[in-house]
Amino acid sequence: MDYVIDFPGVTTLPVAESNKVFPVGRIYCVGRNYAEHAREMGHDPDREPPFFFMKPADAIVANGATIPYPRETKDLHHEIEMIVAIGQGGADIPAGKALDHVFGYGVGLDMTRRDLQTAAKKLGRPWEMGKAFDDSAPCTALKPASMIGHPAKGAIWLKVNGKIAQKGDLSEMIWNVPETISHLSTLITLRPGDIIMSGTPAGVGPVKAGDKLEGHVDGVGDLTITYAKQK
Ligand code: MN
Repeated sequence: MDYVIDFPGVTTLPVAESNKVFPVGRIYCVGRNYAEHAREMGHDPDREPPFFFMKPADAIVANGATIPYPRETKDLHHEIEMIVAIGQGGADIPAGKALDHVFGYGVGLDMTRRDLQTAAKKLGRPWEMGKAFDDSAPCTALKPASMIGHPAKGAIWLKVNGKIAQKGDLSEMIWNVPETISHLSTLITLRPGDIIMSGTPAGVGPVKAGDKLEGHVDGVGDLTITYAKQK
């Protein structure tokens, strides 16, 4: 394809033990999907239906990268999450069939300009400028479900400069992965290449220039991202 402008093209994620890559379509993120995190954000973790927001595909950052502290924020927060990569699209997918639509899993960060998000919430405005900014979605290589199965329990944690900041278990999700896929597919038609960030456990907190973030999900992978030192 010849583009009429200089365009970087499709964003991709590496796939573990493969020479092929996964093309990233759209990124859907689940809000407040762990009860302790809902509480720390000042919300009742009652089982209200899941809600979603988005990030652009080109917010993806490769594992191991050093990235700049983002613009226009003084309160960048980390949110470690398991990433679900959709291999087969569909609408109105029953939870019982949802895992058939999953290609694989990764470990990601839903980086958040918390000050901008909080201001947007207060004004009843969209969250995008708090969530959907440059480099806001670091992610590991994907591990295919054919290799690791469908993780439903296991530790998820994040260290900041070697110290544990976030810690939880996949089994603590308010809406598990099949239920999340099922809900989302009633709102939009899922497409191959879509990615779902499945929510973050408690312990979100600020990141400073120069910080090293190390995230882990049992059986899925390890993510390391470094924020560049301030110039
Ligand atoms: Mn999140």
